[in-house]
Amino acid sequence: MIQSRLIDPFSRTINYLRVSVTDRCDFRCVYCMSENMTFLPKKDLLALEELDRLCTTFIRLGVQKLRITGGEPLVRKNILEFFRSMTRHLETGMLNELTLTTNGSQLARFAKDLFDAGVRRVNISLDTLNDIKFAKITRWGRLNQVLEGIDTAQAQGLKIKINAVALKGVNDDELFLLTEWCADRDMTLTWIEVMPMGDIGNEQRLSQYWSLKDVRSLYKKHYTVTDLIERTGGPARYIRLEETGQKIGFITPLSHNFCESCNRVRVTCTGELYMCLGQEDMVDLRKPLRDFPNTNIPLEDAIRLAIDQKPKGHDFDYSRQRLDGQMARHMSHTGG
Ligand code: SAM
Ligand code: SF4
Repeated sequence: MIQSRLIDPFSRTINYLRVSVTDRCDFRCVYCMSENMTFLPKKDLLALEELDRLCTTFIRLGVQKLRITGGEPLVRKNILEFFRSMTRHLETGMLNELTLTTNGSQLARFAKDLFDAGVRRVNISLDTLNDIKFAKITRWGRLNQVLEGIDTAQAQGLKIKINAVALKGVNDDELFLLTEWCADRDMTLTWIEVMPMGDIGNEQRLSQYWSLKDVRSLYKKHYTVTDLIERTGGPARYIRLEETGQKIGFITPLSHNFCESCNRVRVTCTGELYMCLGQEDMVDLRKPLRDFPNTNIPLEDAIRLAIDQKPKGHDFDYSRQRLDGQMARHMSHTGG
């Protein structure tokens, strides 16, 4: 049964939880990680049973959508067990959606089992269809492996959304190519503005920053564009391209403030609850999980206390040509 819901000081109902299940990854995307990352010791990570208790508690408090992310969630050992254990919440109707964000590298192996566990939609990150560029961006990735993952996932009936980070001088020449490719495969494409996360290559990041206002203008020149008013409570805004009938999303944390409708919080793989992606405030949930293995009441209290402190919004700003509001955390730590 749902206990009293999580409502923050700005009257926003929190019903969407994103959980990072690992900080590790089989890629080293240039905007996300440095090449020589030091990863956390295993004992610091929440065990699968702890992840289950944590997510189940959030679901009891009204979370209806659960997104699993990382690092790369599908490289976490035995992660399928966790997905399978969440199936029970879909079956009771407490959870509306169980989903994940992945780089797609392991999807060929996991797509069927994920579908069987109740996953119906998957976000896959793919910035380019050029294998040389792909290898440059991801450092360790191979494009073919991801394309194979996408084929398998679609064959299993999973609905796919492609997330592409907009990078000036890198994939700006593929705007229409990626768009048409997604349209042919009935996939939504969402563009993400590169964000100042982690202490890596910020000068390069600033020079690669490609405002989605520019991307939107290019679409308007090339297609008949209809603005869609639908809101997911998240940072994405959508348009429809009438010629292809397809939806295009824009995640613009830097050029558009979306915080007023924020319905989500994030938990890192070590159990830190971040109330806002762009702020340092966090609450440790691992302690109540580990100190009280037989009751979830202290965990619940810690979650409620955290939600009472959810900030109004973030402070990212590139407009003065420096990275105001920059976060020292890597995206792979908080989960994208
Ligand atoms: N490994 C999975 C993946 O790549 O989809 C999940 C985790 S990844 C951190 C989640 C998303 O964050 C990806 O779509 C990635 O492109 C995005 N991302 C990582 N670093 C970013 C940054 N500095 N700015 C914007 N998006 C970033
Ligand atoms: Fe790995 Fe995803 Fe970060 Fe790329 S964006 S390094 S795939 S966690």
